[in-house]
Amino acid sequence: MRNLIFLVPLTALLACSGTRPVAEPPAPPATGAKDPTRSLSQMGADAVLWQNTSAEAYWIYKQAYEVAATRMMWNIVERSKAYREGEKERPLAVIVDIDETVLDNSPYQITAVKNGRTFDQNEWKGWTDKASAKASPGALEFLRMAKEATCEVFYITNRDIRERATTLKNLSDLGFPDADEAHLLLMEGTSDKTERRARVRATHDVVLLVGDQLRDFDERFKDRSMNDGKAVVDAMADSLSKYFILLPNPMYGTYRDAIQGKGSEAEKLQRMEEWFQRNGY
Ligand SMILES: [Mg+2]
Repeated sequence: MRNLIFLVPLTALLACSGTRPVAEPPAPPATGAKDPTRSLSQMGADAVLWQNTSAEAYWIYKQAYEVAATRMMWNIVERSKAYREGEKERPLAVIVDIDETVLDNSPYQITAVKNGRTFDQNEWKGWTDKASAKASPGALEFLRMAKEATCEVFYITNRDIRERATTLKNLSDLGFPDADEAHLLLMEGTSDKTERRARVRATHDVVLLVGDQLRDFDERFKDRSMNDGKAVVDAMADSLSKYFILLPNPMYGTYRDAIQGKGSEAEKLQRMEEWFQRNGY
């Protein structure tokens, strides 16, 4: 087998050594300048493929939702014990994020990478308008179980208010519980979900939260200045373990924003290059 591998280039060389003119190598690009959008897009290719195709991602979701069910039941029992006799119990709730938590948008991300595009609000809206995202593995089963355990489900998402109707359609077509206006808290001015979580907590006992970003649990995770944010994780490990289930999303999120920042794609690419340099790569 090994010899055969050596034979192939040798044959190719012999074929080229005849009288036929050797093909010109492809012309280099007209300028040395990089297309920053395409460059950033290509950097995400592996992440997007992993999220969309891998059995590993599929199983991590299923596994996480299995753990979510166990934690939820434990917390329900514990909360019930904490009530004193005769005290009126508040209704139970589970809070979930939507994108990459209960709905899988990797087809949108795949299309963007294929076309050399990065996130674009209009293209994103074109995707959510279709209301055709599939459920994340294990999400439906978990939320149906939560409903059976008398929890109300609240969806706290940073989708835009213009996406309200299509998001509800997508969720209800898939059979998600509580897919109605009262249980959908969209982004209103800020991506910080603290106030929206507080609104749910004002009337309900929240027994579990699920998201693909640590910020779906607490806004303090936005701070990535100390050891890329891992110091905050260590400081909050107890409440994270008890009340939060994190799902995988290598495609986008706070980790990447902390490096690339805001601004044009050229500026983001520049910050990536600075990051490589600063970290000795
Ligand atoms: Mg999300």
